[in-house]
Amino acid sequence: NAAASATKLVKTYGKGETTVHALRSVSVDFTAGEFTAIMGPSGSGKSTLMHCLAGLDTATSGEVRIGDIDLTGLNDKQMTKLRRDRIGFVFQAFNLVPTLTARENITLPLDIAGRKVDKQWMDMVVDRLGLGDRLGHRPSELSGGQVQRVACARALVGRPQIIFGDEPTGNLDSRSSGEVLSILRRSVDEFDQTVVIVTHDPRAASYADRVVFLADGQIVSDQRGLSGDDIF
Ligand code: ADP
Ligand code: ADP
Repeated sequence: NAAASATKLVKTYGKGETTVHALRSVSVDFTAGEFTAIMGPSGSGKSTLMHCLAGLDTATSGEVRIGDIDLTGLNDKQMTKLRRDRIGFVFQAFNLVPTLTARENITLPLDIAGRKVDKQWMDMVVDRLGLGDRLGHRPSELSGGQVQRVACARALVGRPQIIFGDEPTGNLDSRSSGEVLSILRRSVDEFDQTVVIVTHDPRAASYADRVVFLADGQIVSDQRGLSGDDIF
């Protein structure tokens, strides 16, 4: 019952002397309804793994599945549809639309898909992320932390089956980080969503069901029931 999986995933960059082995045959299943944190030193392959899982990058070899769908066989159009229908992204690099308000940015993916906004859930997300009085502002009128929380709200509001995050609490102060982690936890507990995030935040370990550690392109540890104190 995996919401997503990687099987013998290999990713190399460059050729010959300068080849970088970013992923050396990584196999991992993400069980539906679980919150997994991927941790490990800088350069260990975390972002590469996340990008391959989310279909934003293609592996050199190996297989990625979202639910029962093998991403290898999909063309661009099918891939875009899969992302829109099933995946929420909280990536730092994924900017908001500067001309739209926070509210419009948050509902944009649903508007594009022609889906209805669940107002109660949206209000709860916005409230928990402390964005209630910021909805009419454009990104340029928001702080960096608020922009990131808007990106998080946008990922959550459509309740996608799976949420991928690349450092979703990077750049956030301790209070906002806690709010983001707790709302991800709540998405899993209350809506049976699956969350997979790459993070350096040791506190993520106490919110996650499972922590997968990467080092030098390989999984070196895969543990459940950790707390923040176990990480540092
Ligand atoms: P992490 O997210 O754990 O910091 P990355 O997945 O970003 O690690 O990178 C893993 C390895 O792949 C690193 O050695 C990095 O320098 C290399 N790498 C990542 N992206 C590229 C790229 N586009 N071209 C060449 N090397 C890359
Ligand atoms: P297209 O080429 O059809 O415009 P894209 O690859 O640009 O498709 O993006 C399709 C969807 O994938 C976006 O709507 C977004 O949900 C997601 N996406 C693309 N790139 C990123 C990214 N860097 N970070 C997060 N999500 C992304």
